[in-house]
Amino acid sequence: MSIPRISFEFFPPRDLEASFNLFETVQTLAAYQPRFVSVTYGAGGTTREITRDAVATLHKHTGLNVAAHLTCVDATREETLAIADQFAAAGVTEIVALRGDPPKGANGFTAHPQGFTSSVELIEALAEQGRFNIRVGAYPEKHPDAADSNADIDWLKRKLDAGASEAITQFFFEAETFLRFRDRCDKAGITAPIVPGILPIENWKGASTFARRCGASIPPLLDDAFTKAARDGREDLLATAQATELCSELIDEGVEDLHFYTLNKPHLTREVCHALGIKPQIPLQKVA
Ligand code: FAD
Repeated sequence: MSIPRISFEFFPPRDLEASFNLFETVQTLAAYQPRFVSVTYGAGGTTREITRDAVATLHKHTGLNVAAHLTCVDATREETLAIADQFAAAGVTEIVALRGDPPKGANGFTAHPQGFTSSVELIEALAEQGRFNIRVGAYPEKHPDAADSNADIDWLKRKLDAGASEAITQFFFEAETFLRFRDRCDKAGITAPIVPGILPIENWKGASTFARRCGASIPPLLDDAFTKAARDGREDLLATAQATELCSELIDEGVEDLHFYTLNKPHLTREVCHALGIKPQIPLQKVA
């Protein structure tokens, strides 16, 4: 089995304890020399300043290639582009450009009257500046806002044609889900890399609730297995085995890059990397 290239997603810390936790997570995972690490932008644009500061700090102090997530939610075009200016001023050259999710409790996405109305508009504006390598989200299972799954592929093509270089998928539980999606993208003439998003399952209740919300299907066997594993206190073992098996199947089918949703917890992601033969490259004490 060939060794994949990897990247990691983190979320921005909201308090001091979370900052230390993020730092520890980054220290642990930096040793695996990711292609890039990314920092999310809270739903509803709620972490605008924290994301900006976390991205700038990680960029300055870790030597990692840091990608900043940026969404269109609840901001004028000028405000959104001002954040991009701040990323650029901090030396950041990678953006994950998204339409974004509305704040909790809101009923679907509504564009700000002076804001970008879609991810495509945001990508076009960023691409025109020529300062960033732009990545976008992709949905192997129908996004809740899509008319059907073909609409997701048409829209993904528009995002890539607008200036994005690569797509990262929403998480999924079965390799077949990604492989079918990759085939359909291929048939639609999409040539940019589509990188599978992998969620090592820290907590089945949380993961399955989130999956239901974003339309990722839950295999009944997995539900059953995690319910039993949780009862016997061996959820971590099952989670490592499940994510490793998923990644192995993808690699056997020619996937070269994997993007891990770490949830700022390094343990499972590290175990899966080890199981895939990805070795830490530098002593941990030299990281960051
Ligand atoms: P889009 O791809 O623009 O839209 C999703 C789907 O809706 C499309 O595939 C298409 O079918 C349909 N659609 C949307 N607009 C149109 C239109 N105008 N015309 C036709 N069809 C349309 N959320 C955050 O808030 N912060 C983050 O940091 C964050 N990071 C993410 C990272 C990744 C890798 C992924 C996959 C998702 C992330 N999300 C994040 C969640 C994301 O914001 C939500 O899924 C959101 O609902 C869609 O954003 P998008 O840019 O992917 O949407």
